[in-house]
Amino acid sequence: MPEPCGRTFEEALLSGYLDDALVQGDEQRVRVHLEDCATCRTLVDELAAVREATMSATFDTPRDHEWSEVPRTETSRFANILGWPLVIGWGALVGGYALWNLWTGAESWIEQLILVGGVSGFGLLFLRVLLDRRQAMKTDRYREVQK
Ligand SMILES: [Zn+2]
Repeated sequence: MPEPCGRTFEEALLSGYLDDALVQGDEQRVRVHLEDCATCRTLVDELAAVREATMSATFDTPRDHEWSEVPRTETSRFANILGWPLVIGWGALVGGYALWNLWTGAESWIEQLILVGGVSGFGLLFLRVLLDRRQAMKTDRYREVQK
């Protein structure tokens, strides 16, 4: 199909020209044509702009490990390190106080038994979540090393 500007090669060669991927004959053909043809020069410019935009978009996309929950700044890392013990400590204190109240307020060994059962159940679930999380973090680190 003849191009309106009279070029004798396919548009694909223009993008090949941009990439320096043409054999010498093609490269020369494109270069000679570009000297005469403003339309194709514009096309090449547009291709270059699109390519540049694609490149920078690739760089802007966060890499895998940046999606994860790993803190990004020193401050947030610090808050993360400090935050967890505080939350866990607070939870243990409040939970312990509540449990102590329930335990001392229990009127029979059956109530105490129910209390112990419930607490160990929750404890096991919590432990499970904690272990899974650690495992996930290890896997993440491994994946990062693999790259
Ligand atoms: Zn042309």
